[in-house]
Amino acid sequence: MIKEFKNLEEAYKYCDICPLCHNKIIIDGKDEKITIFPLDKFYKVEINNITNKIKFCLTNVTLGINFKNSNLIIGKTICCYSCNMYDYMIQLHFNFRKDLLSKIVLNSEFVSIENSKKDVYEISNKYTFNETNFTYFGNNIRFSDVIKFPLISENLFHPHETLERLKKLSIFQ
Ligand SMILES: [Zn+2]
Repeated sequence: MIKEFKNLEEAYKYCDICPLCHNKIIIDGKDEKITIFPLDKFYKVEINNITNKIKFCLTNVTLGINFKNSNLIIGKTICCYSCNMYDYMIQLHFNFRKDLLSKIVLNSEFVSIENSKKDVYEISNKYTFNETNFTYFGNNIRFSDVIKFPLISENLFHPHETLERLKKLSIFQ
């Protein structure tokens, strides 16, 4: 089941504290306007974080009928800027006919873990594809393949536990 948020405020609270460095995650551009690119133009929209109402920032924009009938999905990534090792992405579904953010879902979650030998493990839970991608960058390996598993954890709040499970499941034991 893909996690759905009732509004942006809830989506921004999905992970308050970084599961890796345990610092508070500061949301970048929380109240900033979002730039969208439907059709061939770009617009800035303001989203009410509680009501999901959207408002176009240019007053002289005349939205064509095609535009009004279109829907658009964009991704927004929320990242821990303390360590840059954790992020999650939400999908914003725009419904321009209703001037509404009609749906907000958790798209994916990513973590990068480095051990004392400087080996790096990357775990990405892709909720919309129901899969976990696992990549290992060893000291002596320059390029690494992504190993795909069916989604193996509901979240990445305990990344080291997830990593241990992935190690057991994969050839890196
Ligand atoms: Zn962090």
